[in-house]
Amino acid sequence: KKVLFSGMQATGNLTLGNYLGALKNWVTLSDEYECFYSVVDMHSITVRQDPATLRKRARALLTLYLAAGLDPKKNCIYYQSHVSGHAELAWILNCFTYMGELNRMTQFKDKSAKHADNINAGLFTYPVLMAADILLYQADVVPVGIDQMQHLELTRDIAIRFNNIYGDVFTIPEAYIGKVGAKIMSLQDPAKKMSKSDENPNGSIYLMDDPDTIMRKCKRAVTDSEACIAYRDEQPGLKNLIDIYCACLGKTSEEAIREFEGKGYGDLKMAVGEAVVSVLKPLQDEVARLEKDKGYLDSIIKENAEKAQYFANKTLRKVQRKVGFPDRI
Ligand code: ATP
Ligand code: MG
Repeated sequence: KKVLFSGMQATGNLTLGNYLGALKNWVTLSDEYECFYSVVDMHSITVRQDPATLRKRARALLTLYLAAGLDPKKNCIYYQSHVSGHAELAWILNCFTYMGELNRMTQFKDKSAKHADNINAGLFTYPVLMAADILLYQADVVPVGIDQMQHLELTRDIAIRFNNIYGDVFTIPEAYIGKVGAKIMSLQDPAKKMSKSDENPNGSIYLMDDPDTIMRKCKRAVTDSEACIAYRDEQPGLKNLIDIYCACLGKTSEEAIREFEGKGYGDLKMAVGEAVVSVLKPLQDEVARLEKDKGYLDSIIKENAEKAQYFANKTLRKVQRKVGFPDRI
């Protein structure tokens, strides 16, 4: 089986976009690949975090991975900070990455503009830690959004550079471009993607929103004054609602259009809300069930960290040997 690595930061409450665009597909991919799904908490501290909040969110995110249907026996579901190899490999890779390369990263430019009071070295070398995340497990594929493509390219460059010096050490990872997950837009501004860091909570449906909140947000979604249900770029708000509806129920946009022929926007919004609730309610119930069973969750966390550490160490020992670190007796 080919190896897949992916992760999410525990820096906010996940939205329906994160679920339909990423997490839901992870579940599908887990049959086909040997998967490592990480809660990348080490990346999170590149911007200042409240410790109690970070800890809580990291656990909530890992719980969500499980609730979404990722099997912790078949996949490796773990906290990045529990596997020391990420930091160890990142250090070595730092010594094979040029300042000039990191200077070109657009995410660093964006984030350092946004956090001008805390432009720390970790923010700068973030892409190297990401390279370590991926290369540590010899991942063949990495499902990433467009925003992470530049980082993945750098990962490949670092791996190729290392291999050119030391022989075939790392698998060169590819971006996963399979069936693209739905890209969900903000309910308040369909030109913008739905995002967990959006200041306007009405633009996003959070995975933990209760049914009333979901219905209310859908009813208030921005549409247009055409008063005609169609699936086209000129009606982006409506298009987004139909995308959400279809992604939730596994329907095509043609089917949806036929269903809503002759109906009003109010009917569509109601149906979208109900479709979202039908997807999120079971997810929320499963989260609640898992949260009650602290012992089970703890044992999964421990077991999976050990499993990840085992695979990580295989690569790490090889790399340490290649660069000339003394053998362990
Ligand atoms: P932030 O605003 O903090 O960047 P985000 O909502 O963009 O948060 P990320 O942690 O950057 O979330 O991304 C997690 C995963 O969710 C990625 O795989 C990303 O491609 C996917 N994703 C994020 N937003 C959407 C969206 N609106 N539609 C589809 N997929 C999305
Ligand atoms: Mg993002």
